[in-house]
Amino acid sequence: MSDHKLSTDCLHAGYVPGNGEPRNIPIVQSTTFRYATGEAMGALFDLEAEGYFYTRLQNPTSDRVAAKICALEGGTAAMLTSSGQAANFFAVFNIAGCGDHVISSASIYGGTFNLFAVTMKRMGIEFTFVDPDCTPEELEAAFRPNTKAVFGETIANPALTVLDIEKFARAAHSHGVPLIVDNTFPTPVNCRPFEWGADIVTHSTTKYMDGHANTVGGAIVDSGRFDWTAHAGKFPGLTTPDESYHGITYTEKFGLGGAYITKATAQLMRDLGATPAPMNAYLLNVGLETLPLRMARHCANAQAVAEHLEAHPKVAWVTYPGLPGDRYHARAMKYMPNGTCGVISFGVKGGREAASKFMAELELCSIATHVADAKTCVLHPASTTHRQMNDAELAAAGVSPDLVRLSVGIEDPADILADVDRALDKV
Ligand SMILES: *Cc1c(COP(=O)(O)O)cnc(C)c1O
Repeated sequence: MSDHKLSTDCLHAGYVPGNGEPRNIPIVQSTTFRYATGEAMGALFDLEAEGYFYTRLQNPTSDRVAAKICALEGGTAAMLTSSGQAANFFAVFNIAGCGDHVISSASIYGGTFNLFAVTMKRMGIEFTFVDPDCTPEELEAAFRPNTKAVFGETIANPALTVLDIEKFARAAHSHGVPLIVDNTFPTPVNCRPFEWGADIVTHSTTKYMDGHANTVGGAIVDSGRFDWTAHAGKFPGLTTPDESYHGITYTEKFGLGGAYITKATAQLMRDLGATPAPMNAYLLNVGLETLPLRMARHCANAQAVAEHLEAHPKVAWVTYPGLPGDRYHARAMKYMPNGTCGVISFGVKGGREAASKFMAELELCSIATHVADAKTCVLHPASTTHRQMNDAELAAAGVSPDLVRLSVGIEDPADILADVDRALDKV
């Protein structure tokens, strides 16, 4: 790991060019890599030697970008995936299978909720969704002997619930399981969950990390601090021989720092193939270079818009952790003292219809199923991203029918405010 500050790592970590080599991370647009002998390649297949052989498993461009994200989060190993969905799926499936149980905060991204509650349930994994603000006793009661992980989002999309990372980490660790935190919204610029006890961090890099709405992608980072061997019976996939790799045991061969990511690459990428394109990894890296500058601007703009909306007569309510009156303000100040994210949710007086009218009247801010890129965009989750949920599930996820999610971009704040005001006037 480098001892540089985060904004320096955003530019330099993960790739140090040698003499006469390209300054930018090169795009290695090749499926395959050449070897002189069959034996040399065989050693790669056995995980006996390090090197590239097929881009479905690993690619130098992607690995260098993963190494940068690893440095930003302060982890020991990381991998890119083709999407944030794949990252969350791999992160959980790497340690939980049929017959296992996972505890998740109920306030999470709609796509992740579906993945857990429908698709992974069909694979035989049971999820218990807990209120993120439950008492330690309530959280305790959710654990079962076959619980393998606890999951939450640092700032939930779109409810903007701020996770009490320490509470969830304490509970997970007292039951010998890791805490997995999706850190998409704050990014490591504003929060590094490992510093508060999280063990695995995931990202939809599609959002602020890429930052320009160019590429869908994901990342998984391991802190290297969770001791799988201390709870070996719970994690046989990491602590007993893998017959599909000639009997290697991941924790023995790769240590606590490397076992989890090596297993996810060797087994899940090999078999499921959610591999990012080298070109996409390259574009993600371009975004990462300016991440600290953009996050500061997103947060400053969102703070200005949130304060403005809060004082507006046509606005019923505003949720933004940066507002002093917000339910999660104190927790946000603890975990994210320099800012949270650029996403605000609010209700237009008049409910669902007024919200639709407001959105239709916007000109600068575009309606898009996206958040967290440079250009301001707006979405109505109840009729789009969360439409799979019934009213009770919507309520548990913190999404009311009138909720408008405004992802504040890095335009001049005066122009954003003027567009919002003009649209509100028409409602
Ligand atoms: C968007 C998002 C995801 C899913 O990521 P994709 O890149 O769209 O697959 C997961 N978690 C959070 C918090 C998100 O915002």
